[in-house]
Amino acid sequence: MLFFKNKIRLRFAPSPTGFLHLGSLRAALFTYLLAKSRKGRFILRIEDTDQKREVSGATDNLIKVLRTVGLEFDEGPHCGGKYGPYIQTGRLGIYKQQADRLLQTGQAYRCFCSPERLTKMRAAQEADKQPPRYDRLCRELSVAESDRRAAAGDSFVIRQKMPTNGEVTVFDELRGNIKFSAADLDDQVLMKSDGIPTYQLANVIDDHLMKISHVTRGDEWLPSFPKNILLYRAFAWTAPKFIHLPLILNKEGGKLSKRQGDVFVEDYLAKGYLPEALINFSALLGWHPKNDKEIWSLKELKKEFSLSGLGASPAIFDAEKLDYYNGYYIRQKSLSALADLCRPYLEAAGRPVKEKDKLEKYVSLAQDRMKKLIDIVELTDFIFALPDYNSELLGWKTLTPESAKNNLQILKTELEKITAEKWNKDYLEKTVLAWIKNRQEKNGDHLWPMRVALTGLKNSPGPFETAAALGREESLKRIAKAIKI
Ligand code: GLU
Repeated sequence: MLFFKNKIRLRFAPSPTGFLHLGSLRAALFTYLLAKSRKGRFILRIEDTDQKREVSGATDNLIKVLRTVGLEFDEGPHCGGKYGPYIQTGRLGIYKQQADRLLQTGQAYRCFCSPERLTKMRAAQEADKQPPRYDRLCRELSVAESDRRAAAGDSFVIRQKMPTNGEVTVFDELRGNIKFSAADLDDQVLMKSDGIPTYQLANVIDDHLMKISHVTRGDEWLPSFPKNILLYRAFAWTAPKFIHLPLILNKEGGKLSKRQGDVFVEDYLAKGYLPEALINFSALLGWHPKNDKEIWSLKELKKEFSLSGLGASPAIFDAEKLDYYNGYYIRQKSLSALADLCRPYLEAAGRPVKEKDKLEKYVSLAQDRMKKLIDIVELTDFIFALPDYNSELLGWKTLTPESAKNNLQILKTELEKITAEKWNKDYLEKTVLAWIKNRQEKNGDHLWPMRVALTGLKNSPGPFETAAALGREESLKRIAKAIKI
């Protein structure tokens, strides 16, 4: 029983503000892996207290996307659990109760300052080149006065009483001790006048009540860290362990932003990045396995991932590396599986291919060169419409376009002898190569013009697999066309 009691519990706590950013996928993945590597629980909590930023459908979408890449939650708004509700707006009563507790113990106070006063105060601080912060006017109000004004219906927020001097030392699992000067800390708002808690309050209460053992979050939250710890102390609660995940930067060292390309997982999935590739790639954004192994399945990661491989220095997002992984996983697929994955992309391009074996032949022409599934459309373009080309393209080395056409003519006669039943890559290859050998001619003098005639392209898959994919009739038609070009 003890074993279960000691299970570690980690949460992914996104705000439902739209699509899933690559950084959030990485945070969710690391959280999942740290939990699963120690047989712990992976929990979803939706932090929706900032209703202005909320996008409807974002939570369902996020659950769907994470499920697509293989991450399933053990607890969450969609699957329940012992520590719910798992959506913050469903927990407003809990926050109120806990905030009142802080008022009673004197760790927090009501602030009745009007927005006008605060605006004026900030403008004066700005003019004085002082950092913006609350001047603590209401901290001096007596409890009786504060209670009286609240009872009279005056609008107020609840602020945390921060220490006014000394240092706050906090411990991050990746960075060790970090010291903050108390003088730099603002008496932050914990509860807004409409009864909605701020991130600081809700996050700490939820992590405590949901028995979260390790908080994993992006290191943009480091400035909040001392405030969180002080809040745990104010509640007299033991804080969980904190792991601030390193930033993800682009290759130039800047923030990952929409300007340099896609930043949302949905965009990558839509273009045909495979879940396996997204997982493998994201796992190595800040995790450094002991061996230099590059290829990792989710199953292996669940076993091997550990805190000791994490560092605090920023991870670099290299889109080419992602393409490399995706190409790798595309090549690992069986033709049949890849054909099924490619089918919708061809359909969306107005090129449905009903017969599975035909589709597999098309896909086999592209598999080696695909970086993402959507590439199937471009790479098989020549199958659906022979590109216009010039007879110059038929020539090869010393072979003139005219001689190439003559070669095509005799090759065509030879190919016509092959029946539709025997028209497959292996048979074509065996027959044509034997025929060329028998004529004591160079392979290229026949195969180059044949390939160009079939594809209309300078670079393309080989002539035999292309002929097999096109079928007998279409291949002969294209060769006849080349002869007349
Ligand atoms: N709601 C916060 C966010 O979306 C969560 C940060 C945390 O994990 O504590 O970034």
